Amino acid sequence: MSNIHFKTGHRPVYQELSGEVNRHFKRTGALKTGNSTLYNKALVIGLIYVGSYLAIYMLPGSLHYLAWAIHGIATAMVGYNIMHDGAHESFSTSRPINRLMALTFNLVGSNRYYWAQKHNRNHHVFTNVDGADEDIDALGLFRMSPHQQHRWFHRYQHFYVWFLYLITSLFWFFALDFKAYHSQKIAHRDYSHRMKLADHIEFWASKVVYVTLYLLIPSAVLGGEATIAGFLLMHAFLGFLFALVFQLAHVVDKADFPRPGENGTMSDEWAVHQMRTTVDFATDNRFLTWALGGLNFQAEHHLFPRISHVHYPELHPLVEAKAAELGYEIRSYPTALAAIQGHYRHMKAMANPHNVVSDETDSDELENDAGYTRS
Ligand SMILES: [Zn+2]
Repeated sequence: MSNIHFKTGHRPVYQELSGEVNRHFKRTGALKTGNSTLYNKALVIGLIYVGSYLAIYMLPGSLHYLAWAIHGIATAMVGYNIMHDGAHESFSTSRPINRLMALTFNLVGSNRYYWAQKHNRNHHVFTNVDGADEDIDALGLFRMSPHQQHRWFHRYQHFYVWFLYLITSLFWFFALDFKAYHSQKIAHRDYSHRMKLADHIEFWASKVVYVTLYLLIPSAVLGGEATIAGFLLMHAFLGFLFALVFQLAHVVDKADFPRPGENGTMSDEWAVHQMRTTVDFATDNRFLTWALGGLNFQAEHHLFPRISHVHYPELHPLVEAKAAELGYEIRSYPTALAAIQGHYRHMKAMANPHNVVSDETDSDELENDAGYTRS
């Protein structure tokens, strides 16, 4: 469905929540964008990223595999902490700096333009909506939404999905990236506008740079076999971390999978939709908050993507209290382990062929859960 949309006009829940957040920033006088905490962190992560890349060539013997693995983790951290904020224009007040930070996604193998279309325009707006949010589309390899077709092998998906996560970034960077480039579409939705010549050049230039940095130069230094093995190891760490952090926020048993009614209208106000489809985890864990770029505060991030992740811990209790006052909930798992268990339970539920939501049931659920009447 390509004409999918939210009702326009009055957005009472969003106004209340954003009013609360705006009052907080007025009180503290802080900017909503990044601050010295973010810039220091970006520096540390940047150093680990560059240092681990150089270590691939410098460590003796098979120790270079350790550097590939650390580089995979560092790449995920560049994505979580630097690229993600840059792409949402929350890293800095300066547009060129945000653009530069978003460009780190090209350096890690994918493409800034693709991310802007996939993440900002589709995933953030139509979260967990089948056909619009490509993040819940595994091309049928596994089933994340009750609205997706069940195939016989999905019965075992809660066992095999963990292995598929190991190839997420390889699949993403080398298949989905090109698929979107060719079709100019994310899921069933066309790109907001066609790529310009500069975007095409950026796309191909970043692929050439990536292949040179990660395959050609290492092959010349370490040999072809060691390079392929190291490259796959790096992607196993990167892919698993990327996949897991995303899945824990949306593909868990506490998240909903709403879908549009006739003529493409979503029944909830956008902010309510975000609170139903996005779940926090381990919000008390300071290390995870630091390392994951605040992606354990996904509900806050989805409600306020233009606010840098360094502010989410202080916003969390305010947003949670205001949501409760309005009769809604910021859904959350207390620990990362509890969120992983929530993901396992959801994948197991979706493995069941009888777990299908019909049009009727879904409509009723939407009305009951959100207190909304479908128009
Ligand atoms: Zn985001």
